[in-house]
Amino acid sequence: MKQSAGENAQEELRDAVRDLCRRFPAEYWRKVSAERAYPDEFVRALTEAGWLAALIPEEYGGAGLGVTEASIVLEEVSRAGAFAGAVHGQMYVMGCVLRHSSEEQKRRYLPRIASGELRLQSMAVTEPTTGTDTTKLKTFAVRRGERYLVNGQKVWISRVKHSDLLLLLARTTPVERVKRKSEGLSVFIVDLRDALGHGLTVKSIPNMANQETNELFFDNLEVPAENLIGEEGRGLKYLLDGLNAERILIAAECIGDGYWFIDKASAYAKERVVFDRPIGKNQGIQFPIARAYANLRAADLMRYRAAELFDAGTPCGAEANMSKLLAADASWEAANVCLQTHGGFGFAQEYDVERKFRETRLYQIAPISTNLILSYIGEHVLGLPRSF
Ligand SMILES: Cc1cc2nc3c(=O)[nH]c(=O)nc-3n(C[C@H](O)[C@H](O)[C@H](O)COP(=O)(O)OP(=O)(O)OC[C@H]3O[C@@H](n4cnc5c(N)ncnc54)[C@H](O)[C@@H]3O)c2cc1C
Repeated sequence: MKQSAGENAQEELRDAVRDLCRRFPAEYWRKVSAERAYPDEFVRALTEAGWLAALIPEEYGGAGLGVTEASIVLEEVSRAGAFAGAVHGQMYVMGCVLRHSSEEQKRRYLPRIASGELRLQSMAVTEPTTGTDTTKLKTFAVRRGERYLVNGQKVWISRVKHSDLLLLLARTTPVERVKRKSEGLSVFIVDLRDALGHGLTVKSIPNMANQETNELFFDNLEVPAENLIGEEGRGLKYLLDGLNAERILIAAECIGDGYWFIDKASAYAKERVVFDRPIGKNQGIQFPIARAYANLRAADLMRYRAAELFDAGTPCGAEANMSKLLAADASWEAANVCLQTHGGFGFAQEYDVERKFRETRLYQIAPISTNLILSYIGEHVLGLPRSF
């Protein structure tokens, strides 16, 4: 259970992240996006300020904050017009590492992650042939003495080229030999510095957002047995344990994007004059912005409710999933409204709207698609019949 930092401390945190983000204005993000580069200076600054270690306990050198505070960091990054997708990985994967790695693993990695010496920015789950049907994944790790040999393929694995460590989900017992298909999967910490070129090949996937994301090919990659997290065969359970935090953090990123779009749309609607009046005087322009704002505020309430429950150690699966669904929808609505408000100029790179529009669209699909959240609510919250 986490103590909430209190409203004043949260405001201070918000201000501090805002101050840092101000050093990276729109021109910086425009350039990074146009060059399809990775925002290294920004990630370094955020790491040095300690924000990417928000969830790491103080005894391992982190800030020891709760998910509420971590979510504020990502919200402010998005709200500043930056792309949180470049940095959120470390916070997403932390839940699994903090809860299930051994004391020895925590001491080995966490202080160095907190200091910025190591980056744990990547998690490899998705595979090209099985997609959302995770339990059918085919990447296999077989134990040979003190090592595992990994073979298989992953797709859409982000930030690999800017991370030192990767959390890998692989099957360790064939699906035919387990009672439940969710068993027999294991999680490993892969040291990318050793793996690249020695059993691991990485191929970039150019994509719609400026997300550094890749295909991974494992060909007898050796992973030391000491890098297995927890018990062999329980890896999917460990990953699922961390998912509520991930859902809340994505919701907060979407909320940040949403506020960015609303601010941008409102400012433009006040200043753009057509037919001798600001376009914002027309209710055809004003009402969609107002509606998007109302939906965003509602989603924001659900995000705080979910974070509060999570930090209190109370079950929050329903709220975490609903916060992600509502926030992703609200940010997408705000994105559309903002683009429409800008007319043709919404398409011009120098207005930044088209960039943020592409970025926020991702959250309808990754890290979990909207349909899968709806199916969680249908089945686990409402008790409707299981679909798959
Ligand atoms: C930019 C980007 C970055 C990513 N980064 C990572 C990463 O770092 N690590 C990682 O492991 N993965 C990553 N992903 C993968 C992402 O998590 C998946 O794309 C996502 O989970 C959906 O899986 P899929 O693409 O295989 O879609 P599919 O599983 O093929 O599904 C396609 C569509 O069908 C729908 N669908 C499928 N089954 C059902 C059903 N039973 N009922 C209703 N609808 C259904 C889905 O909702 C989806 O809309 C990333 C993806 C992108 C685009």
